[in-house]
Amino acid sequence: MIRIKTYEEIEQMKPAALLVGKTLAEVSKHIEPGVSTKTLDSIAEDFIRSHNAEPTFKGYGGFPASLCISINENVVHGIPSKRAIKEGDVVSIDCGCTLNGWVGDSAYTFAVKGIKDEDMQLLRVTRQSLYNGIEACQLGHRLGDIGYAIQSYCESFGYGVVRDLCGHGLGHVMHEDPQVLNYGRKGTGAKLREGMTIAIEPMITLGNKEVVFHNDGWTCTTVDNSTAAHFEHDVAITKDGPVILSSFEEIESAIKLNSNLEII
Ligand code: MG
Ligand code: MG
Repeated sequence: MIRIKTYEEIEQMKPAALLVGKTLAEVSKHIEPGVSTKTLDSIAEDFIRSHNAEPTFKGYGGFPASLCISINENVVHGIPSKRAIKEGDVVSIDCGCTLNGWVGDSAYTFAVKGIKDEDMQLLRVTRQSLYNGIEACQLGHRLGDIGYAIQSYCESFGYGVVRDLCGHGLGHVMHEDPQVLNYGRKGTGAKLREGMTIAIEPMITLGNKEVVFHNDGWTCTTVDNSTAAHFEHDVAITKDGPVILSSFEEIESAIKLNSNLEII
């Protein structure tokens, strides 16, 4: 069942979604070669809790951390560990915050200094595909229009659009109906309705679209070990068009100040 929100509820959702961006901005200040993903996770957890919020991922389905950190060929759901960030890494970080009973869920892929040109292009295209998907969130459109916008753009670069994972509705819980696929046909699927709140999250690869799941029950990797990228925003569908509840603004300001990161 799709849970429709009032405009008042959509306003109430914003602080949770914005706190995710602030958390990712804080984390991004600390991304540098040698730092472990576990250290980044503790920074996020402390930051979230200091803002009177809960890290939504921690304990979700048994997930052990506050962030999913997925490096290079890892697509999503990477578990923070002693693994150290290296020069040239592609670091996807997904974060969830629960604040005042609402969930925010957003992801950004960071380019560590020394990144290969082909990986940088993947990041730029994946980021843009998210905004193309958001642009399709107009009343009268259908879910398939979002998927089509993402898929057609990414495939025009020869990239793989991961099928095994997708976006979702969100509200008081992280995963509500509907599923928001990153592929699809125009004019198909459920109609977009005023008050729908969804997380759109393209997961795109430089190669094959197929993925495998590790024995840890979480980490998802491209089958051909090609690099993957992941960007996610929370979006409300309104009579005036899509409203992005989350934000990359603070993340991208922080990236500019971190000489270990490249601007996407
Ligand atoms: Mg997410
Ligand atoms: Mg999500």
